[in-house]
Amino acid sequence: MEEFSWAGMPAIVEPLLAWYDRAARVLPWRSNPTPYFVWISEIMLQQTRVEAVKPYFDRFVREIPNIAALSAVEDGALMKIWQGLGYYSRARNLKKAAQGIMTGHDGVFPGTYEAIRALPGIGDYTAGAIASIAFGLPVSAVDGNVLRVFARLLGSGVNIAQPATKKLFAAGIRRLIPPDRPGDFNQALMELGATVCLPNGQPKCGVCPLSGHCRGYELGIAETLPVKPPKKPRRQETLTVLIIKDPAGRVALRQRPEKGLLAGMWEYPHVPEYLTADQTARQLKLWRLGEAEITELPAAKHVFTHVEWHMVGYKARLFTPAPVLPGWVWCSVDELREKYAIPSAFRAYTGALRLS
Ligand code: SF4
Repeated sequence: MEEFSWAGMPAIVEPLLAWYDRAARVLPWRSNPTPYFVWISEIMLQQTRVEAVKPYFDRFVREIPNIAALSAVEDGALMKIWQGLGYYSRARNLKKAAQGIMTGHDGVFPGTYEAIRALPGIGDYTAGAIASIAFGLPVSAVDGNVLRVFARLLGSGVNIAQPATKKLFAAGIRRLIPPDRPGDFNQALMELGATVCLPNGQPKCGVCPLSGHCRGYELGIAETLPVKPPKKPRRQETLTVLIIKDPAGRVALRQRPEKGLLAGMWEYPHVPEYLTADQTARQLKLWRLGEAEITELPAAKHVFTHVEWHMVGYKARLFTPAPVLPGWVWCSVDELREKYAIPSAFRAYTGALRLS
């Protein structure tokens, strides 16, 4: 592995904390960093931007204010609150962890790194963030943002996607943590990565509190760091999505399998290829839904981490009442909005529901 020196790094601590005290964004979970608030916010912030998380966080803690309530929340209600945030296994793991805290920790959020790390849905980074922010423990919290910041500070072209690099950086960062402010130090690094030392070759070195200590900046290579291996291309999938309404105006939904992408979520029926209107009519008959008036809907695309969905859609208004189909439900548009969590991958088609 490439050599680089941490010798100058202790000098970043003071200016970093002074900048954080001055510039940190006011966030609801920062003003009152209880273990519950920090936990919920950190889980939401995995894969999701701060601005998008804020309204979800407010609603979540309003409707599910504590661990006991989370352990007992009904799955459908939980999914409904999470609807639109994506990566729904995060919500399921929150509930599982809350149940584990109720039975294994007398309902009190555990206060050691190891016990936090052992909860479902919590990896090294999240455990470090909760342990340091909510409990003041001197542990590091190293995610992609922090790795990027340090690759630049160290002027290192090391591959930050490698677990060995992460381990090495985590050990180096741990030695920098000031014992009186571990949570602020970790949050300051995250904040710097989110607002100044931005990804994709866009660091704002001109306003950075650490530019005087940054090897990447000094060498003029900050924009080229970190070095990342080329990403694997996403798998491309085509789908035909059907908004099927019965003569009473109720919409067909079906539940996805318990495992895999969007596990257990509700969705509009779809088939894994592009259908024409005639083929759609035949598909409806295969499902024993009879004749229908079929109208084309606009095409749509949704990008997941590893897969891209390219969708075409049709609205089908059935002429005769629909039979009971295993795994399907028929619900009014209002019921759908209140009770069923439809993944945002189908947002374009949810928008078509109100059309007659
Ligand atoms: Fe990042 Fe530039 Fe600051 Fe270095 S000087 S830490 S590259 S923003």
